[in-house]
Amino acid sequence: MKFLDEYRDYAAVQRMAEEIRRVTTRPWTLMEVCGGQTYTIVKTGLQELLSEQITLVHGPGCPVCVTPIAMIDRAVATAMLPKVILCSFGDMLRVPGSAQSLLDVKALGANVRIVYSPLDALQLARSNPDREVVFFAVGFETTAPANAMAVWQAAREGLSNFSMLVSHVLVPPAMEAVLASPSSRVQAFLAAGHACMVTGYEEYLAISARYRVPIVVTGFEPLDLLQGVLMIVQQLEEGRFEVENQYTRAVRREGNSAAQKRVNEVFEVTDRAWRGIGEIPSSGLRFRKEFASFDAELRFGIVLDDAEESSECIAGLVLQGLQRPYDCPAFGRRCTPDSPLGAPMVSSEGACAAYFHFGRRKEDDESLVSLAAAS
Ligand code: SF4
Repeated sequence: MKFLDEYRDYAAVQRMAEEIRRVTTRPWTLMEVCGGQTYTIVKTGLQELLSEQITLVHGPGCPVCVTPIAMIDRAVATAMLPKVILCSFGDMLRVPGSAQSLLDVKALGANVRIVYSPLDALQLARSNPDREVVFFAVGFETTAPANAMAVWQAAREGLSNFSMLVSHVLVPPAMEAVLASPSSRVQAFLAAGHACMVTGYEEYLAISARYRVPIVVTGFEPLDLLQGVLMIVQQLEEGRFEVENQYTRAVRREGNSAAQKRVNEVFEVTDRAWRGIGEIPSSGLRFRKEFASFDAELRFGIVLDDAEESSECIAGLVLQGLQRPYDCPAFGRRCTPDSPLGAPMVSSEGACAAYFHFGRRKEDDESLVSLAAAS
């Protein structure tokens, strides 16, 4: 297939769902790691198309959702410094910190800008030599290469008024954290295709073997996701646990070596706190010492007390697939996209926002469960 429409073809989607039904003999619980996949699943109603025996739970793969509240507070404090231009992607501006969001302080006069790429921030630094331009760099392996490239380019040009507040996270340690939890129900993963475009999937082999779970690298269109589910169910039904690649049109086993090289030049692996989940060992990136002059945390030395999450928000449980957004008492009431209490209600990749926008209700899932029990 060559064209996007073909991955959304209704008849092909129906046939694939029918094939999944044919091969499924018992209940299985699968986690899609990536928030982009969650968005497609909820928007297109894929869960409702599947066999009642297949339960999809949503994973921690939304960068906006997992950026720690302390980091949001640090970005807010940095934005309020004189002569600073704080840049980030649009969604990040709306994420609540412990007291304010970046959008709140923008309204109070802080120089906060939305950019579409770290290279836009680099250009702002070139054209504003009397300002400090700080890019708030969040995301998974997918965004790390462009951020590393921007820093590398700034170093090459000798730009001294450019820095980054880095809160990068990595997918495989998060998958391990989910599997290691005693309350985990996850029996297999749909791995995020775009992260694997950069990293490849060799790192997943050890996870699959250690926890005896199938992992299928999967794309983002309805047919991609259903084919990924089918490949997983075939493995589960046959008692296999292997790493397979559904997203062959974009992902190679070894990934993108040029992108990996640039990331490894600029960043190194570190422990990282995940919002709502806590610290996960070796799950983030930080600057290597050779590039420490671009580290906004060091440059501005902002120290903050640990921030408190809203006591109502159960985002950590939602992000680990342990609860659904509608299980949160605040969902759709005190927490909406216009007035979010927690990060998963902000981003389009957040499970709470997807459930809110596309009307996924508890009653829908309960009727699927009772159908499965009756069959
Ligand atoms: S609905 Fe809102 S408060 Fe509840 S878990 Fe989601 S983001 Fe948090």
